[in-house]
Parts: sequence; structure tokens; C-alpha cells
Amino acid sequence: MFRIGQGFDVHRLVEGRKLILGGVEIPYHKGLLGHSDADVLIHALIDALLGALALGDIGKLFPDTDMQYRDANSRELLRLVVRTITQKHFYSINNIDATIILEQPKLASYIEQIRENLAQDLSINKDLISIKAKTYEGLGEIGNGDAAASQVVVLLIK
Ligand code: MG
Repeated sequence: MFRIGQGFDVHRLVEGRKLILGGVEIPYHKGLLGHSDADVLIHALIDALLGALALGDIGKLFPDTDMQYRDANSRELLRLVVRTITQKHFYSINNIDATIILEQPKLASYIEQIRENLAQDLSINKDLISIKAKTYEGLGEIGNGDAAASQVVVLLIK
């Protein structure tokens, strides 16, 4: 039995914050603003995983009003969600296809490390994880470098 899920997230890109995508700290003069580490890719991935099983969303599971999630490492939240999906609902991940949308910096040299991090957190082969990066062609807030977004599709199999 298959279940498909999709996730979307967007965060502001501001001075004085670390830029963390897929658990990789990327050198840049701006970073993503948020209650947690604001890892926009992992947040969209968590929403895709939860969405596939109609389990709600990241805000429901890890409320940003809860101090225990302040500066939370999104990889830890991801591991918790994966444990629920595999050990409580007995699904496994068939494959993941993700897109990160931001104007700068270029992500090409970080994609492999992101795939390795996610493969480790999800306990699946890296070949099942597709990570793409693209710009917004200079349009709007993302194009101005004031925000970054991510879209993820995941297929679960039982
Ligand atoms: Mg988020």
C-alpha cells in the first residue's frame, strides 16, 4: 500500500542567523529566521511525511510556543517523525523528491552532504533521496534574497 505526501515551507532570510539546510551549515552572511534552527528543507520534509499519513503538520507536533523546541535541531525532530512512521504505522520510505528555492548562495557543492544527512536520519539509501536547488529568477521576496522556501514530495510504502 502506498501513501503520498507533500510538504511546503518558507522562512525569512536575515542577518545574524546561521543558514542550515538539510542539517548542513552553509557559510553565508544571512540565515533563516525561526523558533528552531529554521531548516526549511527538513521542515517541508517533515510535513510531507506527516501529510502522507494524515498526521497533521510540524506546527501541531512541535508548537513554536513550546520552549523545548527553541533553537531545536530539525534533524532530531525529523528522526522522531520517522520513528513514528516506521515503528508505529509500519510504513517505510519509498523515495523522496525535494526542491530548495533560494536565490543565494549556490547549493550545488552541499547537495551530497544534505543527502547523506537525510539518508542517515531516515535510515534509507541516499539513492532514494533527490535534492534539487533552484532560484526564483529574481522575483519577489525569494528573488530579493529575503526568504527561502522548500517543496518536498514523499512516497511511503507498507
Ligand atoms: Mg518552518
